[in-house]
Amino acid sequence: MENEYIQTAAVSSDGASDDNIIIVGKISKNKHSLIEGIVALNIYDKMEETLRFNDIIMCGQQLIEFADAARLATNRRTIIKHFGERLRQTATTNYVFSRLDNNTRYYICEKSEAIGMYILFAIGAVHTPVKTLANIKQTANHILANYMEPVGEIISMTTVSEIMECLDSKYSFSEKVFNHDNIIFAIIPYSHREFNSECMIADTNVPVVCLYHMNERGVEQGATPIAVFFHELGHVLHIRCFGSPFRVPNDLVDFLSDLCFPTIKDITESEQNEIFADVLSIGLMQGTKYGEYDLFKEIHSDDKRAFKAIVEKLLKKIESD
Ligand SMILES: [Zn+2]
Repeated sequence: MENEYIQTAAVSSDGASDDNIIIVGKISKNKHSLIEGIVALNIYDKMEETLRFNDIIMCGQQLIEFADAARLATNRRTIIKHFGERLRQTATTNYVFSRLDNNTRYYICEKSEAIGMYILFAIGAVHTPVKTLANIKQTANHILANYMEPVGEIISMTTVSEIMECLDSKYSFSEKVFNHDNIIFAIIPYSHREFNSECMIADTNVPVVCLYHMNERGVEQGATPIAVFFHELGHVLHIRCFGSPFRVPNDLVDFLSDLCFPTIKDITESEQNEIFADVLSIGLMQGTKYGEYDLFKEIHSDDKRAFKAIVEKLLKKIESD
């Protein structure tokens, strides 16, 4: 008989951790295969540890270790396919069940679930082993380079749902803006070196809005989590109306240039997008209890009323599309 069930206990893992591993399974008596068996078990252990999503920075390091180990494994295609399946399962379990008994068009998550969602969407779909390992490494390096311990405040799940309820009762916002795809609001318990929030559009076309603790610059500039959330809703409304690439249409640039941004034509398209997201965020806040969170005190109230009119026009445009 070529194979037999063997059980070994207390085999030292190779320096990655102090834990010993227990191997129970059908492993060839051949010495080479036994070593492969140990390596494979270590990879699956590493994978499961990463997929607890307890700490995003630790996840970054674990993803690199996992990708390095998987690259050297003889059965890397199987390992990576399994990784893709487990990543999707662990990150989306609550999401999938919530969709079954809830027809809101948005899903809010926080803490480890939000970290899992971010990692799932950042890595994207599983392709060939080479491409997937490259995506895993890229995501891990991005995490290690950008995420850090929390600096300022972060929005709560309750506040996100209160804001959505307010905009839904005023504008049927989520019905109009998220009608093609549901949207995920991921409240990630870290600060990001560059952004206080960001909007990711994944392969699946489901937008994921990542909301972070305010970073140092955000705190210095007096950014608040609520203002940042409205800014992201501004981006999402923009994307929903005009699609990708996220360019501000010329007639709107002309309008804003005449209204209160005389230099808007001299800046880059991506800077125009940021101003436009602010314009829409201010317009959305107007006439709601969130008006006090508007950070742009220097903008005249007549201009802000014009921003509200732009929001209403865009929402009408969506309705008639
Ligand atoms: Zn922005």
